[in-house]
Amino acid sequence: MSSDCHFSRLLTVTQSEAYQYFSDIEKYPERYPQYYQTIDVVERTDNSLTAKMFLNVNLSIEEDHANIIAKFTFKPETEIRYEVTSGPGQGIIKNAIIIRGQDTLGDKAYKSAVEMNHIPLDLLCYPPPYMYEPEDEKYKDYIISPGERLGEYQKMLTYFMEQDLVPLEKKGKRFEIDDLCNKCKKGHLQFYGKKEEYDIRKEVYFRCDYCGSEFSNKRVDL
Ligand SMILES: [Zn+2]
Repeated sequence: MSSDCHFSRLLTVTQSEAYQYFSDIEKYPERYPQYYQTIDVVERTDNSLTAKMFLNVNLSIEEDHANIIAKFTFKPETEIRYEVTSGPGQGIIKNAIIIRGQDTLGDKAYKSAVEMNHIPLDLLCYPPPYMYEPEDEKYKDYIISPGERLGEYQKMLTYFMEQDLVPLEKKGKRFEIDDLCNKCKKGHLQFYGKKEEYDIRKEVYFRCDYCGSEFSNKRVDL
């Protein structure tokens, strides 16, 4: 597999902070619980980590998880390389998270930027090419359907971006049900509705059960 990146983001934290954040692989189940169920370290050296990972990924109609072993190699503070050494994607999934320094977009300056990859995203692309030419007989066990798989991929992409918004992009706290209303400080937020587009959560609304103020979580721009 080529080291194409699944998505890139401009960040408001320093390159060093971004590197620390992404290289803490053992934190992934806590940070991205929907797809990383467990990570157990098998071996650790000064610059590498080998781990058994239980991932919740819909690989096909029969398979809703993947048991893999992956080796991560660290190059502070620019690169986290990884490769799947056992399980689905073995010998095929080789990819990296690349972190760069200061960047600008228009007139806005960012402290760092990341080209982001995740093994669950790679798995949905395995075996390539999965998304647009999935009719090949040898890929049949991996196919849900092209449309479903694309939807699954988009949903996962959005999730990974959203989980990093608060710590890395300082997009403000995401509201949650039962949060104390920060207008009246008396009521609590209740789910009010959401707008969806192509199965991707774009905006979620909440309303205070005391003063009626409305709040919504920031959207993710794909
Ligand atoms: Zn209120």
